[in-house]
Amino acid sequence: MKYQRPKGTQDILPNESEKWQYVETVTRELLTKYRYQEIRTPIFESFEVFSRTSGETSDIVTKEMYDFYDKGKRHITLRPEGTAGVVRAFVENKLFAPEVQKPFKTFYMGPMFRYERPQSGRLRQFHQIGVEAFGSEEPALDVETIAMAVSLLKEFGLNNLKVALNTLGDAQTRQDYRQALVDYFTPFAAQLSDDSKVRLEKNPLRILDSKDPADQEIVENAPVILDYLTPEAKEHFTTVRSLLDALGIEYVVDTEMVRGLDYYNHTIFEIMSDSKAFGGKWTTVCAGGRYSGLVEQLGGPEMSGVGFGLGVERLLLILDAEEIQLPIDNRLDVYVVGIGEVTNEETLKLVQALRQQGLIADRDYLGRKPKGQFKSAARLNAKYTLTIGETELAEQRANLKNMDAKEEISVSLADLYTDFAAVAEKLN
Ligand code: ATP
Ligand code: MG
Repeated sequence: MKYQRPKGTQDILPNESEKWQYVETVTRELLTKYRYQEIRTPIFESFEVFSRTSGETSDIVTKEMYDFYDKGKRHITLRPEGTAGVVRAFVENKLFAPEVQKPFKTFYMGPMFRYERPQSGRLRQFHQIGVEAFGSEEPALDVETIAMAVSLLKEFGLNNLKVALNTLGDAQTRQDYRQALVDYFTPFAAQLSDDSKVRLEKNPLRILDSKDPADQEIVENAPVILDYLTPEAKEHFTTVRSLLDALGIEYVVDTEMVRGLDYYNHTIFEIMSDSKAFGGKWTTVCAGGRYSGLVEQLGGPEMSGVGFGLGVERLLLILDAEEIQLPIDNRLDVYVVGIGEVTNEETLKLVQALRQQGLIADRDYLGRKPKGQFKSAARLNAKYTLTIGETELAEQRANLKNMDAKEEISVSLADLYTDFAAVAEKLN
């Protein structure tokens, strides 16, 4: 019997995991500057948390949910995205209360689950970095969110990014636009894909997002939402655009972009890359926007939010493809070489003491001969080796060698236990 990981999942192995840690650390540092604090919600939630919020015609709800009944016959879903769970927690913990500082800004990082056809950059378990800010309607907050996403991607050395921007307006806008779309698509109903026939009934806006080539041809001449904006919606969008200009953030307005989830209004955006990681095809790495109705749908007061979700696997694919070197240093500081069984206790005490001094240190655990131990030290790219044999032990000394300069000196164990760095300085 050969066991394999489930289709569409990945093992993130050592060396690869350091890249993940780097991405997570840089992200935490950056988001903290914007006063975002981390939230950790469950990886599974009641099915209704997503079915009520993601929209009954969304791909996520209709095709991609990992849902099951637990032993208590509760309908459970592995989260396909982060926002709904965060909103559920926001409401359940009454974070909408006036005494909680608004906007309430929070971020999360973690695995998401969607039953998709796996391919490069599309997995069944994937990871998102996401942010949400609740309790302000200000266009400036939309712009801060976009600026934060752009800064984050730039922080990783990504260039050649495209920010695509659109607005879905307010409720009135969408009602008018929906009617315009129904009027436009109805004469083409017979030519639409089966999915889009259903969308025409339930959510015609979603036809704009269709990946079917025949649908896309019909979509080309569809009415444009910008022509249906109410004065308030237009003002919101105009302000967003001028604030983006003020920050020097380049963007293109893409009126066919509607986003996969039903709860967005006003600003929506996607940040795309044409990296060779995706064969040069513009691919979305980060997507988000403003939403309303979600907090209310999950039992809270009416309060809007704005946020984004960023796909970590796609980010890492770009970093690899563009050969961007991350400043990851997991080089070993000291390898302690013990010669003979008598040194076993001393070398164990010594590596332990070095770690307590803040160094990355290791020794042999396979009974290797000195030659093998030096080989290990070289393979681990150790900066120093410390060698102790029977004679050194008797004299309470060790030989310290700088692996780059190949210089070696005899040092006292007592000094090493006090301050390795001071001892090592004598070598440099
Ligand atoms: P797509 O149109 O590519 O299916 P989506 O609209 O479903 O994207 P969102 O729900 O907006 O994607 O998720 C935000 C980001 O999360 C995406 O831009 C992408 O980087 C990442 N993402 C989404 N689904 C997957 C997946 N199955 N595998 C890997 N990353 C994903
Ligand atoms: Mg999708």
